[in-house]
Amino acid sequence: LIQLYIPLNFLGVLYREIKQSLTDLDRMFTLMAREREIADAPGAPDVALSGPTVRFEGVAFAYDPARPILHDVSFEIPAGQTVAVVGASGAGKSTLARLLYRFYDVSPDNGGRITVDGQDIRQVTQDSLRRSIGIVPQDTVLFNDTIAYNIAYGRPGATRAEVEAAARAAHIHDFIVAQPKGYDTVVGERGLKLSGGEKQRVAIARTLLKNPPILIFDEATSALDSANERAIQTELRSASVGKTTLVIAHRLSTVVDAYEILVMEAGRVVERGSHPQLLALGERYARMWQLQNAGSAPAGHIAQENDTH
Ligand code: ADP
Ligand code: MG
Repeated sequence: LIQLYIPLNFLGVLYREIKQSLTDLDRMFTLMAREREIADAPGAPDVALSGPTVRFEGVAFAYDPARPILHDVSFEIPAGQTVAVVGASGAGKSTLARLLYRFYDVSPDNGGRITVDGQDIRQVTQDSLRRSIGIVPQDTVLFNDTIAYNIAYGRPGATRAEVEAAARAAHIHDFIVAQPKGYDTVVGERGLKLSGGEKQRVAIARTLLKNPPILIFDEATSALDSANERAIQTELRSASVGKTTLVIAHRLSTVVDAYEILVMEAGRVVERGSHPQLLALGERYARMWQLQNAGSAPAGHIAQENDTH
């Protein structure tokens, strides 16, 4: 009995250990889980980039076939330009980001396509696609590893000096060095818990370090206080110069220079144009602009719209 008990007990411990790490993996790798479902096309080549120009062509998508989310969304981000997406929570903005990064594929029938320099993203390797894209998601999940690892994840092999430079640009360096173990502090579920804003800055540092030709910022500074947000917006703007950028914005002040602004409502693009064009149109965008500016806080600060997602 004792002989039997010991191995079983040991197995129990082992099981708990494994289960614990699986739980963590599960949290960390919701993205990876998606990767397993999305497969490379047989014999797919790496994506070949010159620009790169990104196009959504008549894109339709549903997470659940019974509930369509996106309807016939078309737009182009010319190489090196920025397209901004605005609209209420639930309009489908983050879904556009997830489709471009290929966490999901467009609907198989009549779902249109997404291309990068003319190549359907379903026909190139995911690895090469994702190496070309830096995404600051709405909710950042960190690995149970050091801060340095979490930042360098964007570019394995980066030197500590490069990691620090990215952290400085993301205004997270001072916070990191104030920790007892500095850059070697373990973060995540089993380490130092970071606030939403701190996690967001780690994700920004990771993306700045990765320095890819395509950028996606999904409300990348929404969890930051306004002083930090303004400073980091400046960094993001300079990082996106010459990069093909999709910006999902909760604050309209960050989109005024965009090549094109898309206003989304219930999965459709309902208004589009440059900032001056949309103001002149005097419809939804103009009302949103008025609303944000009417709520002006001290120092010309633009109040956040109700949409927090
Ligand atoms: P936004 O970013 O504009 O707030 P999202 O693109 O996140 O909107 O979501 C669009 C719609 O898709 C919402 O109705 C949301 O509830 C739904 N949705 C988002 N993610 C999922 C998911 N993983 N499974 C099912 N529905 C989802
Ligand atoms: Mg969103």
